[in-house]
Amino acid sequence: MTNIDWKNLPFGYFKTDYNVRCYYRNGKWGEVEVSSSEYITMHMAATCLHYGQEAFGGVKAFRGSDGKIRVFRWMENAKRMQRSAEGIMMAVPPVELFGEMIFKAIKLNEKYVPPYGYGASLYLRPLLIGTGAEVGVKPADEYLFMVFVGPVGPYFKEGFKPVNFQIISDYDRAAPFGTGHIKVGGNYAASLKALIRGKNEGFPSVIFRNSADRRYIDEAGPANFFGIKGNSYITPDSPSILPSITNLSLRQLAKDIGLNVELRSVAVDELDSFEEAGACGTAAVITPIGKIVDRDTGKVVEYSKDGKAGPISTKLYNKLKGIQEGTEEDIHNWNTVVE
Ligand SMILES: *Cc1c(COP(=O)(O)O)cnc(C)c1O
Repeated sequence: MTNIDWKNLPFGYFKTDYNVRCYYRNGKWGEVEVSSSEYITMHMAATCLHYGQEAFGGVKAFRGSDGKIRVFRWMENAKRMQRSAEGIMMAVPPVELFGEMIFKAIKLNEKYVPPYGYGASLYLRPLLIGTGAEVGVKPADEYLFMVFVGPVGPYFKEGFKPVNFQIISDYDRAAPFGTGHIKVGGNYAASLKALIRGKNEGFPSVIFRNSADRRYIDEAGPANFFGIKGNSYITPDSPSILPSITNLSLRQLAKDIGLNVELRSVAVDELDSFEEAGACGTAAVITPIGKIVDRDTGKVVEYSKDGKAGPISTKLYNKLKGIQEGTEEDIHNWNTVVE
């Protein structure tokens, strides 16, 4: 039995019993190993430490009202991990290996899957790193792919309430032909100064513009941006944006409820014309945006005056959460039930 305070779980690291690991050596993936250590032993010249050969993912498993455990769109995550690996010349983990490892990690840590009703879930963190020793700049010849898990509470304690964003133009997250489209740690390192400054200035998250000419919206911190205008769900298309699986799902749900979906460049000047705006990602599903303050000009665009999320964002959020928790019909077959 576990003695976990499900109601007050933070969104953070939580020690569980096991993680699973697989090493790539001599040109092939080895056996899946189970470990109860929280530590990795590796060579000090490993390429992940020096040259940023590192990619990760984020998958969630939910305990439904029926007691079943459902994993949300793990195969999309597996394919994205493959693109990330390929993008920085790492060994590419097969989709089947990814699946085997996440289901093994869930089953071994089943008692840490939060019960239904607390807005909590089991967060799975697949991690791929170059472990081979190199000093010259080149890809490693050895890799570690691992999955660790932990129960997490809602990303924002206040729940589904609008938060304020800052839009900036003096830091870039990713270059136009860089690595913004893949989930690699380097993008996060590049975003930290802007994110922490934003927090210190009172904003839970920061919107990055496209780095080529700064006229367009790129990412909303570690999440995708979307706006609602009339009958349309509008989300930026840019080579430096990470294709969010939550966004992909919301676009489908938007179509399902009869909205037009526009995947295109979104000019900063267009922010004024949206009735609702939000950020989306696995951690929070949707973070409704209350207002966006331009750090350069002080201009404020407000989406919520009453402290509530807009009706369309709310509808999409409830629909997606419902599918994840098994209370809404999973008509697109996004969930895999853990057997
Ligand atoms: C992970 C991530 C997202 C969200 O992707 P999901 O698949 O929805 O979790 C968005 N932007 C960036 C930069 C990310 O790293």
